[in-house]
Amino acid sequence: MTDEGYDHTAIERRWQDAWEAANAYRTPDDVADPTYVLGMYPYPSGKLHMGHVRNYTITDAYARYRRLRGDDVLHPMGWDAFGLPAENAAKERDTNPRDWTLDCIETMKGQMQSMGFGYDWDREITTCTPDYYRWNQWLFTRFHEEGLVERRDAEVNWCPSCETVLADEQVEGEAELCWRCDTPVETRELDQWFLRITEYADELLEAIDDLEGWPNSVRQMQRNWIGRQHGTELSFEIEGHGDVEAFTTRVDTIHGATFFALAPDHPISEALAETDADVRRFIEEAADPEGDEPNGIATGLTATNPVTGEEIPVYVADFVLSDVGTGALMAVPAHDERDHAFAEKKGIEIRPVIAPEPDAADVEEEDMEEANEADMESADPTVPDVEDDAFTEDGILINSGEYDGLDSETARDRLTEDIESASEATQYQLRDWGISRQRYWGTPIPVVHCDDCGPVMVPEEDLPVELPEFINTTGNPLDAAEEWTETTCPECGGPAERETDTMDTFVDSSWYPLRYVSPDLEEAPFDLERANDWMPVDQYVGGIEHAVMHLLYSRFFTKVLADHEGLEHREPFENLLAQGMVQLEGEKMSKSKGNVVSPQRIVEEYGADTARLFMMQAAQPERDFDWSEEGVRSTNRFLARLKALVENHADAIVAADATAAGADADEDPIAAYVTDEVDAAIAIATAEYEDLTFNVALREAQELVRTLRSYADAVDDPDPAVLSRGLSAAVRLLAPVTPHLAEELYAQLQGADPSNDADAEAAVEGGVVLAAEWPEASVDRETVRKRRRLVENTREDVRQIIDVAGIEDPESIDVVVAPDWKYDALEIAIDSDADNLIGELMAEDHIRDQGDAAAAYGQDLQAEREALSMTLRGDAEYDALRAAAWLIEREFDAPVRVVRAEDAAADVARNAEPGRPAIDIAE
Ligand SMILES: [Zn+2]
Ligand SMILES: [Zn+2]
Repeated sequence: MTDEGYDHTAIERRWQDAWEAANAYRTPDDVADPTYVLGMYPYPSGKLHMGHVRNYTITDAYARYRRLRGDDVLHPMGWDAFGLPAENAAKERDTNPRDWTLDCIETMKGQMQSMGFGYDWDREITTCTPDYYRWNQWLFTRFHEEGLVERRDAEVNWCPSCETVLADEQVEGEAELCWRCDTPVETRELDQWFLRITEYADELLEAIDDLEGWPNSVRQMQRNWIGRQHGTELSFEIEGHGDVEAFTTRVDTIHGATFFALAPDHPISEALAETDADVRRFIEEAADPEGDEPNGIATGLTATNPVTGEEIPVYVADFVLSDVGTGALMAVPAHDERDHAFAEKKGIEIRPVIAPEPDAADVEEEDMEEANEADMESADPTVPDVEDDAFTEDGILINSGEYDGLDSETARDRLTEDIESASEATQYQLRDWGISRQRYWGTPIPVVHCDDCGPVMVPEEDLPVELPEFINTTGNPLDAAEEWTETTCPECGGPAERETDTMDTFVDSSWYPLRYVSPDLEEAPFDLERANDWMPVDQYVGGIEHAVMHLLYSRFFTKVLADHEGLEHREPFENLLAQGMVQLEGEKMSKSKGNVVSPQRIVEEYGADTARLFMMQAAQPERDFDWSEEGVRSTNRFLARLKALVENHADAIVAADATAAGADADEDPIAAYVTDEVDAAIAIATAEYEDLTFNVALREAQELVRTLRSYADAVDDPDPAVLSRGLSAAVRLLAPVTPHLAEELYAQLQGADPSNDADAEAAVEGGVVLAAEWPEASVDRETVRKRRRLVENTREDVRQIIDVAGIEDPESIDVVVAPDWKYDALEIAIDSDADNLIGELMAEDHIRDQGDAAAAYGQDLQAEREALSMTLRGDAEYDALRAAAWLIEREFDAPVRVVRAEDAAADVARNAEPGRPAIDIAE
């Protein structure tokens, strides 16, 4: 084999077939609590794109790693198969969404198989099949029974192009565009079905604190989305309109309220619009809630401040939202930025009523003692300058009558108590989840509308309500399916009509991890006992764009199922990884930009292993990274060289006894060094795989391969036992990411000839996926890091001495390891929190016995106390340096002697410190 690639097609197909024949990725129903690794299931849009490939390579690598560690693993795959794009594609192609979707699934499944993803395809789920969506319907009726479904008239976001209602989350940006087609969104009033997620707002919010395996960014996005605020509800009287409820989190600022504002769709605003043309024009034309600056119009009315009796002007303003709070607010320009901007624009008074709290930390204690008490008392709080900016923090009340001098928090309590109409209140940004969609390709909402009985749930025995044949129309196809729509009322038997809305597809994805547990179960959505054993998902991986909707709805469903269906966990995903994007020249790949790299071409040209390895080594999974053809080529060359290395040495390796590895540093220092490097690579890669920092794990595995290759090339007679252990470890460290080639090479290292396809099937039984164990290291990651740092620093020190002293041809180099008492002293210094470190050191007899040397070292430790960290112990440093001595010998072409302090000349040994051996170079 040359450096230029290898026959990846034959190898990858061979092992994919062998795995399939052996059913290698199946998770039997009777395994106990498998490690559940899950990638967000894809929408079958046509072909896999690079984002999918990255997502699923991450889960596949982690699932394979867990398997090699001996875990039972559940790693399923399915299809988020309902949704509008299929409907649009079917219209364009004059087919139907079902056929189009199933075609896409077939294509994408084939691509997944060619990527070598190890899924349990026996557990495949497809949400557009009645077998799946009947359980969406069943869950809907269960939610209804529990009072968690509501039907109400609602103003909804309407995309005129998609002809459908959109959830708030599907309306994007300040311009309010449809998330699918970028058309500006309009509003409409429609009867809608809602799931009452707000019932769980508090738990959804509070439980976020315990989701320690989730990225903080996602946790914060969910907190903001739920948006809980504690405050006060109170009423202001508006002349002619009676008491009007307002919500504020800052009732402490009520003396600074200089105007009152109503949302454009507040009932009073709407009433005014009937008689006041200016108000009407403002509401209909000028109001722009998403605009950069607040707009509004005076109504000529006044509102009465319930504390001061002051009359303040009432405005209709677009920054007041009717669905947040009460749609009315008292505005305090001095202490709220938005109110401030509005007041500046309209020339309204800005009246400060909160002063910054005097900062106690700024006042020295001594000054406090010396200060005259009378002065302290008479010192007025500094009035903040609110001319240009609002002062929005809590502080001390001023200009607030009897409340002057109170701190904000106390004032809020007192005012809420004192104001007659006031009470404590909590507000949320979170709204109930409208799930009605006026489109065809979704789960029919299992409801029948009867003139006499109203909306009636379809009884369980009549589920599923199956979709009729697709009708190509511009409106809602189910409205056009007249035969399907006509039915009888389950309650009175009279004529009735089916609900023609379908469910938001986020319903499907809110519980799908549970379906994988028992995908064929006919009696229930999931097998409860098994779900309680197997769930929650241990590691979930997907895009950050799902931080709110999918991940919040899934949490909501899980909590409802825990409360009403006996599920024993309340969160669906224990650990979450949000993977970064695959970019090209710094830009997101997209069809519209024409910068898409096709996974299929990469697999054909370089193989799945190359594509997978390049992706995983290029960046940490959470980060974005740039696709690079050169990177792919060099990854491919690396794999080809690894393959050649194994093939060149396989015969000698098979004959050797791997357990004999571990040469003595004196007899064969290079072999001993390589043996240490094998352990180091295993230790680091293992810890990094645990952390899902695949890029670091792979760097280590690749570095090990390079070390082994240098060893095999540079030494006349490489120890086959050392090579065997090293290559076997390297192949397994790479196996989670390059499973095909790993299987091939592992078989060769066992003496099998996998190029014979019949042998491959036999080999798979003893191979990486089914039989191999993760390699074990004799060290841990921390020790390796310390050892490497020591060797690196020592080499750098030798270089510097040679450079500074101008030594041309060193005769010998002594490396002197510090005496044991210095390691003891260092350890004491790190553990100690005593002021007098020297005293503490001198309390140790064996340190005190060192006299001046101990005092001097103690001073050094004292000076660097904050920066100290524990090194290896003396013996371990001695061993590490001896193992690396040959490297130094090669670099400087002089014999190197590693000695302990007690065996070295006193004037040299004196300079040796833990982590920093003394160096003595003879010319
Ligand atoms: Zn649209
Ligand atoms: Zn009826």
